[in-house]
Amino acid sequence: RQAAYAALRDVEPFTRDGTRIKVMMNAGLRDDMPNLSLTGADGVGLFRTEFQFLVSATLPARERQTRLYRDVLDAAGDKPVVFRTIDIGGDKVLPYLRHNDGEQEENPAMGWRALRVALERDGLLKVQARAMLEAAAGRTLNVMFPMVAEPWEFEAARAVFEGQRQFLKSQKKLLPEAIRYGAMLEVPALAEQLDVLAPHLSFLSIGTNDLTQFLFAADRSNPKLAERYDWLSPAILRFLRRVQQSVAGYDVDVTVCGEMGGRRLEALALLGIGIRRLSITPASVGPVKELVRKVDLADITEAMNRWLSAPPANLREALTGWAHERGI
Ligand code: PEP
Ligand code: MG
Repeated sequence: RQAAYAALRDVEPFTRDGTRIKVMMNAGLRDDMPNLSLTGADGVGLFRTEFQFLVSATLPARERQTRLYRDVLDAAGDKPVVFRTIDIGGDKVLPYLRHNDGEQEENPAMGWRALRVALERDGLLKVQARAMLEAAAGRTLNVMFPMVAEPWEFEAARAVFEGQRQFLKSQKKLLPEAIRYGAMLEVPALAEQLDVLAPHLSFLSIGTNDLTQFLFAADRSNPKLAERYDWLSPAILRFLRRVQQSVAGYDVDVTVCGEMGGRRLEALALLGIGIRRLSITPASVGPVKELVRKVDLADITEAMNRWLSAPPANLREALTGWAHERGI
């Protein structure tokens, strides 16, 4: 694997018509960080902070959290890292965090998880905020919140961070040079209020794993449904294009950070609907960079517009043929 990574490490992801696409990687542990230089990714577009909680037998103390975030930023050097606040609950259960007072949830993916937990147990979020702010002292902190469904949830989470920032300031501690706040778009409802939220965002990260399960009402971990709903369905691609277009007038970076962006045809389709930033599994970084170099954006945009206006019976087949004709 290391040899395969190295061969594509220095490939710069410019499209044929000269647009630089950002190809970042997803990570969750210290051990993932060497992949950044091995793959030549543009940064960490999604750092899943809950991994530290999941691999620990007890709630990680603040100092431990700070150390992890600092190590990750050190390992990234000049490249940006986007920290996502914990996304626990759902399928990620913490034995030491009493979950819903012992009540089993019938639909945990749609239950008490992610930001919903963090805002209610805001001690958890405060500790994470302190740890991130201290770790990013003198640098830029990029932080995003998972499962935002309504603008007030984003505002409430940001207020927790700003409260901790004020506290550190009153203590005369060194602060981050800049804080960039972002939201994940995973709950379809948020798409209807992006005009409200966009002015407050530095970036939006589309989590297509959860978004797809909620758009299609199809459990992402149920193997019976795995083949049934295609990421290349017009419903998903039209939805994503609309999201992309609705924040296009604002100064908001849009990234797709779900698994879909790491797959060839899916990455092509995303380029064709206007996505210019991907954050994907490290193993996909090299292959996607190489793919990007073969693509003419006007060409794929024309094809996607045509297919999304009048969807063919099988968009995956159409795209496969299109790519084949062009030697992609
Ligand atoms: C997603 O939902 O697409 C996502 C990137 O987050 P996770 O897979 O951690 O839920
Ligand atoms: Mg998710």
